[in-house]
Amino acid sequence: MAERYDIIVIGTGPGGYVCAIKAAQLGLKTAVVEKNSTLGGTCLNIGCIPSKALLHASEMFAEAEHALPTLGVDVGKPKLNLEKMMAHKDATVKSNVDGVAFLMKKNKIDVFTGTGKVLGEGHVAIIDDKGDTVEVQTTNIVIATGSDVADIPGVDLTIDEKVVVSSTGALELSSVPKHLVVVGGGVIGLELGSVWARLGSKVTVVEYLDTILGPMDGDVSKQFQRMLTKQGLTFKLGAKVTGVEATGKGVAKGAKVTYEPVKGGDAATIDADVVLVATGRKPFTNGLGLEKAGVVLDEHGRVKIDEHFHTSIPGVYAIGDVVAGPMLAHKAEDEGVAVAEIIAGQAGHVNYGVIPGVVYTQPEIASVGKTEEELKAEGVAYKVGKFPFSANGRARAMLQPNGFAKVLADKTTDKVLGVHIVGFGAGEMIHEAAVLMEFGGSAEDLGRTCHAHPTMSEAVKEAALGAFLKPIHL
Ligand SMILES: Cc1cc2nc3c(=O)[nH]c(=O)nc-3n(C[C@H](O)[C@H](O)[C@H](O)COP(=O)(O)OP(=O)(O)OC[C@H]3O[C@@H](n4cnc5c(N)ncnc54)[C@H](O)[C@@H]3O)c2cc1C
Repeated sequence: MAERYDIIVIGTGPGGYVCAIKAAQLGLKTAVVEKNSTLGGTCLNIGCIPSKALLHASEMFAEAEHALPTLGVDVGKPKLNLEKMMAHKDATVKSNVDGVAFLMKKNKIDVFTGTGKVLGEGHVAIIDDKGDTVEVQTTNIVIATGSDVADIPGVDLTIDEKVVVSSTGALELSSVPKHLVVVGGGVIGLELGSVWARLGSKVTVVEYLDTILGPMDGDVSKQFQRMLTKQGLTFKLGAKVTGVEATGKGVAKGAKVTYEPVKGGDAATIDADVVLVATGRKPFTNGLGLEKAGVVLDEHGRVKIDEHFHTSIPGVYAIGDVVAGPMLAHKAEDEGVAVAEIIAGQAGHVNYGVIPGVVYTQPEIASVGKTEEELKAEGVAYKVGKFPFSANGRARAMLQPNGFAKVLADKTTDKVLGVHIVGFGAGEMIHEAAVLMEFGGSAEDLGRTCHAHPTMSEAVKEAALGAFLKPIHL
């Protein structure tokens, strides 16, 4: 029997490893359990980090061909070295997962490799790949086992990660597919679709809803779709995929995707070299033994928690993708910090109203707070300020005139309720809105805050001025 811990965290994604670090910083004796050979979870190994490495590299490839000549930088037609691009991605992943391993050591956190199983209050079993089990005692358990790729509802699917791929396979392709069909027009599908479109694939996105990016602000998704269409992506919206069937043999291997209009009508097929299934993610609880331990799940298979991350059994908590809420790394991280603080007797808290969402395409999309559609549905009286990057000096200088900043503020109090940005660097710019909203700031506060010139962020200030009074440069 190993020694007793104050806290054992099962899963080392951004939720789990951040929770462990915070717990150790607060003086708790901490261990993590991870079934993979590397730490960092989906985000660092097969999610946020490798996708951003490929998004950046493919963006540079596209820039070299399309933007550099206009800036007077003649480099000739760029040539793709996919192997080297993938090596850059792999090196980025390695340095990040090694970084987490270093942080575990630095914070004196014990790392168990194996599948963690909740045996009940205070007891965790760790089963290694040979089937050997160690039982560990702990005062608190945090379940941070994340999520896995979701299927296409009603479709019998074999993901071989070569022809029919999940996001994991789409980060590993050994050649550029001639035709990539992406099932699902959400963030992951559009980011990875953009990568392969920039590298030369014809990309067709089949989406069930009538708009891309699901719950994002309507203005944003409309403009974004126009931009991606200009970049060569094709969209079949309001289309339900009913079959994905492997075709051909050897080098001629491919797949046929069958879809039909959601509103009714004839089915159609598309031939693809590769099909990316990007219909979302589902909570991952396999092997945890939750049912036997008495941990209750909700109707979507997520671990049910109260407002303090407590599950149905004492001393067992859950955070991240495995519980309700947006499946985002930074949401998982903030929950990790909050639950560690609660376990240490402090007042941990996450403000779910101010969690930014970013799509790392070119241009980027970033959003925080309410969308216009949500405010309408809630019957909130609001004002809108919108400023296009085409009227921003820095954007023009950088050949990045596409997109806009949009500020939504309460009609009576002027409090900022939501900010949505489509534009180069939107994912960095959104944080001034997030900080403002954390402090309950108004459009006037944002509009009267001095912004350095010339910066893209001036468009956010101008949009705030637009919500409050009038922009200057429009
Ligand atoms: C392609 C892609 C791109 C993404 N890009 C972004 C992005 O840019 N920004 C963003 O915010 N989010 C992004 N996400 C989502 C993000 O990765 C997740 O929201 C985040 O990883 C969730 O963190 P987590 O800690 O809850 O779980 P995970 O990161 O999924 O980690 C869970 C860990 O638990 C381990 N585990 C599971 N069961 C057990 C067990 N029984 N015993 C031991 N270990 C176990 C798993 O092996 C895994 O390591 C992306 C996801 C994908 C797939």
